[in-house]
Amino acid sequence: MTEKPAKSHGRLATSVSIKPRDLMEGPPRLKGAWCAKIVTLFPEAFPGTLGLSLTGKALQDGLWALEPIDLRPFGQGKHRNVDDNPAGGGAGMVLRADVVAAALEQAAIGTPADREQWPVIYMSPRGRPLTQAMAQDFAKAEGMTILCGRFEGVDERVLQQFGVQEVSIGDFVLTGGEIAAQVLIDATVRLIPRVLGNQASTEEESFSNGLLEHPQYTRPTVWEGRAIPEILLSGHHAKIADWRRTMAERLTKERRPDLWRAWCAQHMRDPDEDQEL
Ligand code: SAH
Repeated sequence: MTEKPAKSHGRLATSVSIKPRDLMEGPPRLKGAWCAKIVTLFPEAFPGTLGLSLTGKALQDGLWALEPIDLRPFGQGKHRNVDDNPAGGGAGMVLRADVVAAALEQAAIGTPADREQWPVIYMSPRGRPLTQAMAQDFAKAEGMTILCGRFEGVDERVLQQFGVQEVSIGDFVLTGGEIAAQVLIDATVRLIPRVLGNQASTEEESFSNGLLEHPQYTRPTVWEGRAIPEILLSGHHAKIADWRRTMAERLTKERRPDLWRAWCAQHMRDPDEDQEL
């Protein structure tokens, strides 16, 4: 069920910025709407896939907002240089602390100083691996500022100076932080009330309860000789819930022994016990 925004959410937000904004430009933004400010050399990468489907509709409706901040104009000299050689030598380039700081300062305008309310994040393979629990916390904040790295990364001092937390989307190295930022924003924004429409779906899915999700099926009932498990067609809600739970446990045990052990510890279950079904 998709709800229309309530009347009390109908007021548009006002915010301070150095650059005058064209009031007719971009989607409306509802007051208090969660906002992602993104410091990047490639603002044209946004909204990217976030502009599609449910996140895109919610963005259009002003349920959340996106403010890319181009790093280039903060660069030095005629060529607006943003990077330089790594101190100590070696390959690649590093984003300059002073340049990144100027962009982060602009991003900070009109945002709370409390990092709980407004985390400042650097997408980085060295960061804390992103989890559903982290996305849930971020969704409760007023918004976040995300710094997207390029080349070899960012001068360490600016990360310290601004109380930046590093977040990784996995143990691999990307070329830049933009795709990672979209992953983080997608995971967060879909937890904001009314973005998905059907809130129940985020409660049952993988990780929300510490287990991977059960298998899903839809029509046709038999496809290429493969039938949908009979119990799902029985209309017996309690049995269906039991089946789904057992399948979720079995999948988690098989595929993610780490999650399974954590879940068992939390539910006082023996991780090696045989499952029914
Ligand atoms: N030299 C760095 C990698 C730089 S990759 C290192 O070894 O740690 C360039 C940029 O891509 C990074 O600054 C970061 O913003 C982004 N990036 C790369 N891999 C990432 C990952 N797994 N998660 C989040 N961001 C990543």
